[in-house]
Amino acid sequence: MANAVTNSGAAELVAYDDAMSRYQPVLGLETHVELGTGSKMFCSCSTAFGAAPNTQVCPVCLALPGSLPVVNATAVESAIRLGLALDCSIAPWGRFARKNYFYPDMPKNYQISQYDEPICVDGHLDVTVDTPDGPRGFRVEIERVHMEEDTGKTSHVGGATGRIHGAQYSIVDYNRAGIPLLEIVTRPIEHTGDLAPLVARAYVSELRDLVRSLGVSDVRMEEGSLRCDVNVSLMPEGAAEWGTRSETKNVNSLRSVERAVRYEISRQAGRLDAGQRVVQETRHFQENSGSTVSGRSKEEAQDYRYFPDPDLVPVAPSAEWVEELRAALPERPSAVRRRIQAEWGLSDDELRDLVNADAIGLVTATVAAGAPSDDARKWWLNELSRRATETEVELAALAITPAQVARVIALVAEGVLTNKLARQVVDGVLAGEGEPDAVVEARGLKVVSDDSALGAAVDAAIAGNPDVAEKIRGGKTAAAGALVGAVMKATRGQADAGRARLLILERLGVEG
Ligand code: ADP
Ligand code: MG
Ligand code: ZN
Repeated sequence: MANAVTNSGAAELVAYDDAMSRYQPVLGLETHVELGTGSKMFCSCSTAFGAAPNTQVCPVCLALPGSLPVVNATAVESAIRLGLALDCSIAPWGRFARKNYFYPDMPKNYQISQYDEPICVDGHLDVTVDTPDGPRGFRVEIERVHMEEDTGKTSHVGGATGRIHGAQYSIVDYNRAGIPLLEIVTRPIEHTGDLAPLVARAYVSELRDLVRSLGVSDVRMEEGSLRCDVNVSLMPEGAAEWGTRSETKNVNSLRSVERAVRYEISRQAGRLDAGQRVVQETRHFQENSGSTVSGRSKEEAQDYRYFPDPDLVPVAPSAEWVEELRAALPERPSAVRRRIQAEWGLSDDELRDLVNADAIGLVTATVAAGAPSDDARKWWLNELSRRATETEVELAALAITPAQVARVIALVAEGVLTNKLARQVVDGVLAGEGEPDAVVEARGLKVVSDDSALGAAVDAAIAGNPDVAEKIRGGKTAAAGALVGAVMKATRGQADAGRARLLILERLGVEG
């Protein structure tokens, strides 16, 4: 007990910079990606999200006696493609293994995974971090990529926290059981110094972009199709051996990855400063406080009694198939960034804004639909980013397509819409009122530029503001703004302001 007491007392957090002046962090990231295949890993059940609980199940994913799994070829292909994109070697032969443990969300009482024969090994992913001295590159070594199946989803009902403690009962939905997952495991990441939180974030972000570019998953962190276990340890400056790590489970946003690393560094430094040791355990990230809390101890390694799954044939991708997949890989996200920076003439800052907004794909698609890159960039980074923030959705989840944005931009360029009217058209599209042209029609948003309609508004503005009109006649053309304002008001913002100004000056007999 004495030992337990020494180790369980809460130590003070150490300020991040202070911790970094005396300790070196080591990171390890284990990322799970849910594949976007139509059917599950070992049966033909649908993987569609959001169906009624336990409607997408069959004897195989419910593990009824006598049922036999069959490997999903598309999942294997996705694993190989990701492995190739990460510069891994692809194993010419490998088996699935059973990982034995009991949990109610796993009807087999084992998970089919890969153990010592993963499909991809020894790769790397290069990431870039912004520092006050400019961008800095890090190479993250990838130990392995392996295939496995997801578990079902347990909900604990009746308690205040949604956790099992205090709940009245728990229910299980097996729709997710058997959905294919890839797990990507890094080697320990060293020598990041105080950039550790940023390196962790940049790695997950780059991996997400890479997976997305392959089209094998929608990689939505909030929906859990990409989730990350963040391992952190500290060692005193100059030490020869790594420290004991904690493993913060299922972190589900880029920002949380960064914060979890930062918090663990402060927490572990506090323990080490106080002469306590870091306990090897899983921890949970608390979104609201930015802290982590203790989960399950991993001091005693659990024995999963792994053994090759006797129901499944080995996976043996031919060298020809692997080379075919390699040749068909899309351009890497890092190469795409370099290319569009050159093509669109972007500064480093402009490129960074695009990357941070996760808007490269959207802007590229808008340009492909005919918009100039500057306009496309501005619409996505300003107006549409604002709407996304307001409604708390990702940019890509807004109810407007790149083609629709391109059409709005074209309507402005043709003079059919002013920028102000264009924003109203976007409102309409986002509200589900249809295509931009339909919204223009239905809401009557066309710019009033034909001279008869505009002329009437101009005459009214002059008649209503005789003193202003007099000043303009006397040569103070700057005063025309007030009359343009009156015209805009009368036309509810739909007048072509430039045309209105010309007409006003013409009517009052002065040169523009
Ligand atoms: P587990 O199965 O317990 O999760 P793994 O061997 O899969 O353990 O390693 C988990 C991750 O932690 C890997 O990314 C690995 O590189 C990393 N890791 C291993 N040792 C350390 C350490 N001392 N500090 C930080 N990360 C570590
Ligand atoms: Mg792990
Ligand atoms: Zn099934």
